[in-house]
Amino acid sequence: MLRVYRCDLHIHTCLSPCGDLDMYPRAIVRASLEKGLDCIAICDHNTAENVAFVERAARQTPLKIIPGMEITTVEEVHVLALFDNLNDLIPIQEMVYRHLPGENDEQRFGCQAIVNENDEVEGFLKQLLIGSTDLPLKDIVNAIHTAGGMALAAHIDRESFSVISQLGFISQDMQFDAVEISSRLSIEEARRLYPDLIGMPMIKTSDAHFIKEIGKGITEILVKSPTIEEFKMAFNKAKGRLVLSGYD
Ligand SMILES: [Zn+2]
Ligand SMILES: [Zn+2]
Repeated sequence: MLRVYRCDLHIHTCLSPCGDLDMYPRAIVRASLEKGLDCIAICDHNTAENVAFVERAARQTPLKIIPGMEITTVEEVHVLALFDNLNDLIPIQEMVYRHLPGENDEQRFGCQAIVNENDEVEGFLKQLLIGSTDLPLKDIVNAIHTAGGMALAAHIDRESFSVISQLGFISQDMQFDAVEISSRLSIEEARRLYPDLIGMPMIKTSDAHFIKEIGKGITEILVKSPTIEEFKMAFNKAKGRLVLSGYD
């Protein structure tokens, strides 16, 4: 049976150098449930090393966790990679690590903390997550699809790190499954702002870096269950699946 899932499909943890230290797994799960969310995606910059801990923190709750990453392409475009299983995302993370130069400087960029489901620090990631990979957008989108995930153009309305800010346009050739708008806009406003994107599925997320931002951008999606296959059907309005309007 189809039902509406309240989704926030772009949430950072304390592993992102720009993510607040209070964004540890248990706190994210708690805040998401308080906001009445059914499904969240964990999308740290260029890593998925906190995903398993968020999944464990949510294990005894009704909250569904979608494993994800926010990958930076060589063009400095942010791409969301969302998967059903963390195991399928790990090879993508390994590919990203191989193409991501540099070590983190905590003083300059912030701390990259791996924190488990019991609020214990497991370690600090050395890889510089804030930088760009040397991989072109098309290769990243291809790799995500080949591994069974879906690829979304992140925050297309932002002045930096978006496909539009970096490349000037979005085309069907880029093969995105959907585009994401930030919490500043409603989907209706975004539709008016980007008339060229007619027919392109659009979702709204919070891109939360702080606890209080979780659930600030929500998309309601009518599906049988919150899986990649079902979301893709909703994006394509197939078999009664549907993306309903995003709201604050
Ligand atoms: Zn981003
Ligand atoms: Zn983000």
